Amino acid sequence: MNVISNHMPTAELQALDTAHHMHPFTAGAELAKTGARIITGANGVTLTDSEGHQILDAMAGLWCVNIGYGRHELADAAARQMKELPYYNTFFQTSHVPVIALSAKLAELAPNDLNHVFYAGSGSEANDTNIRLVRHYWAIKGQPNKNIIISRKNAYHGSTLGGGSLGGMSGMQNQGVPVIPGIHHIDQPDWWSEGGDKTPEEFGLERARQLEAAILELGADRVGAFIAEPVQGAGGVIIPPSTYWPEIQRICDEHGILLIADEVICGFGRTGHWFGTDYYGIRPHIMAIAKGLSSGYAPIGGSLVCDDVAETIAQAGDFNHGYTYSGHPVACAVALENLRIMQEEKIVENVAQDTGPYLKAKWESLTAHPLVGEAKIVGMMGSIALTPHKESRAKFAADAGTVGLACRTRCFANGLVMRHVGDRMVISPPLVITKAEIDTLIERALLSLDETLEQIKAEGLYKAG
Ligand SMILES: *Cc1c(COP(=O)(O)O)cnc(C)c1O
Repeated sequence: MNVISNHMPTAELQALDTAHHMHPFTAGAELAKTGARIITGANGVTLTDSEGHQILDAMAGLWCVNIGYGRHELADAAARQMKELPYYNTFFQTSHVPVIALSAKLAELAPNDLNHVFYAGSGSEANDTNIRLVRHYWAIKGQPNKNIIISRKNAYHGSTLGGGSLGGMSGMQNQGVPVIPGIHHIDQPDWWSEGGDKTPEEFGLERARQLEAAILELGADRVGAFIAEPVQGAGGVIIPPSTYWPEIQRICDEHGILLIADEVICGFGRTGHWFGTDYYGIRPHIMAIAKGLSSGYAPIGGSLVCDDVAETIAQAGDFNHGYTYSGHPVACAVALENLRIMQEEKIVENVAQDTGPYLKAKWESLTAHPLVGEAKIVGMMGSIALTPHKESRAKFAADAGTVGLACRTRCFANGLVMRHVGDRMVISPPLVITKAEIDTLIERALLSLDETLEQIKAEGLYKAG
């Protein structure tokens, strides 16, 4: 039998892949036509594909490889743990050293009194847990009807039935979600697309006050929680106006609503702070974490929970919830090693003080390009809005995403992974990206923007639609 390896011709690997592998978020017809891009290795911020191309990964995989690729310390930590104790569970009053150590470390890093961790295998599972935490908490408090969770349109909270129901991305709706009753969506604070004639500050307040209006309409005795990403990631790196989060915090406080921060992307240094809530100075009761927790080297997620919610639940008997891999020892050992490296190498501080400001200046200079309307960035997550007319923030005379996809294709061809969300281009590079690599990122982005502009002019798309 042939061994399937990196050494097989790309076309053969692609044929097997197309025949047997169902890809997430991928169109089957496109896959069958062109095959998948096959990644065979990676180091630092650079991927290698099966054709030998070197590609700068400005997305850190899926927003997760915060310490960069190729850190053998994490492989060693996994191997050591697998030899010592590859698996044991945390159900029925049992525990093990890696889960104890990681929990103590997370309590130390997390803001305020978020001192308790419930583990999951992913961000989606963490948000499923969060739905149950909120509803169980209010039921214990004698308010079983305080079970509605308010979320936002164009939010991403994962792909399970719970995460998908919380989420609000139009492309996911009507494919089996939403299915969880009692989830209510308000509008997002995306000033570029939806702000009309208002200033960003006016618009931020208006969108935050939709939360208050929804609570008043549904009844504060019915609304258990509000969930949001500090900065929407998959929705297009939507950085809210400065007025938004303080008003959300006021509303949650005044109406006695739990605040859930989905930190799956923003957590672990992405914003130049340990958590997005540190950046915004908000005080969540629960945070969803995953991705950067292990820099993607092992699947692990969880909920960081405040004293009140954790203690209320602990005192009420069994919490009948858990995953076979909750607190998996190998994943915990890898996450601990990742956090050790982040702290010892001052990776978060470097983003805040050195490479983050450097990237910000370069990123914002992209607005000089004729295709680029706004350029927004916090720490190491940024986006640019492509537009045929900056002053009116116009959309193109083409289906939304046509120009974004064209730009992404040019980026790939130029050795750069930059994702498109509609006609926004987004980046979220490994936090260890150097200044020289930032220069390369910007050069390749500019080249790709030039080529995109030429292409859409030739196709007659460089006009407002
Ligand atoms: C990726 C993501 C999730 C889902 O995490 P998975 O590990 O893919 O299940 C949830 N919330 C946010 C904000 C995310 O970006």
